[in-house]
Amino acid sequence: MSREIDEVKYEVAMATRILSHMGLSTGVTAALGHVSMRVPNQPDKFVVKGRGYAIDALEEMQYYDMIVCDLEGYKIDGPARSTQCSEVKIHSCIYKTRPDVQSVVHVHPRNVVLMTVLGEPIKPMAQEGASMVQAQPHPLYPHTKTVWSDEEGMELAGTLGGHKFALMQGHGATMTGKDPQDSVVSMLQLEEQARMNYWALVAKGSDHPFIPDALVNEISDRPSQDSHPHFKELMRSIGGNPPRDGVWNSYKKKVSVGMVAP
Ligand SMILES: [Zn+2]
Repeated sequence: MSREIDEVKYEVAMATRILSHMGLSTGVTAALGHVSMRVPNQPDKFVVKGRGYAIDALEEMQYYDMIVCDLEGYKIDGPARSTQCSEVKIHSCIYKTRPDVQSVVHVHPRNVVLMTVLGEPIKPMAQEGASMVQAQPHPLYPHTKTVWSDEEGMELAGTLGGHKFALMQGHGATMTGKDPQDSVVSMLQLEEQARMNYWALVAKGSDHPFIPDALVNEISDRPSQDSHPHFKELMRSIGGNPPRDGVWNSYKKKVSVGMVAP
């Protein structure tokens, strides 16, 4: 396998560990969940965690544990005694039907699962992820069983359609992104919104207040920050608006301890 694939494997192993450190795969779900990335120069292949390791937990993953798959979900590279993840069709069916998607995450976040079982919507309750959950209703895959077959994977991909994520009833959620940072951080935001919705539901009942459309729209419908006089010259002098990647980079630093580089 190429240097590029080894680098993608390292990025996917790191993102897999981050799911655990973010609390999206811990305790009873410590071995459940997977993030994948399409290989940039070989878009008919993707890399994802497998099964069959000595310790099959997300926070243990190394780049050499990762599995390379084709768009039908077949394993084409990886450790001899490992298989693809059992729900590999979540990833392969989305990559096959959504050429714009470069990364897919599937986890079982507790508050998201709770809200799908309660049949309650996840509404904007905080700034982080507010725009992502604004449009209602969210696509819901109406099954709790794991996604094993091509038929099940294509049904989930059809439920997702052109949306960023799909909820899965009593099971979890599947999130898409332009890279692992986008898909994983978006999943963290979805779980945070679900948690706050649950608290509001307990405090105020089903018709609890939420952030109205007008206020959510204000978040994005305005001039960029560097258009303001007190930022303009300074940001120009440092090469533009500083990136907002502190959450991702701090988790990368935490999980890189003990990781073997390719
Ligand atoms: Zn699952």
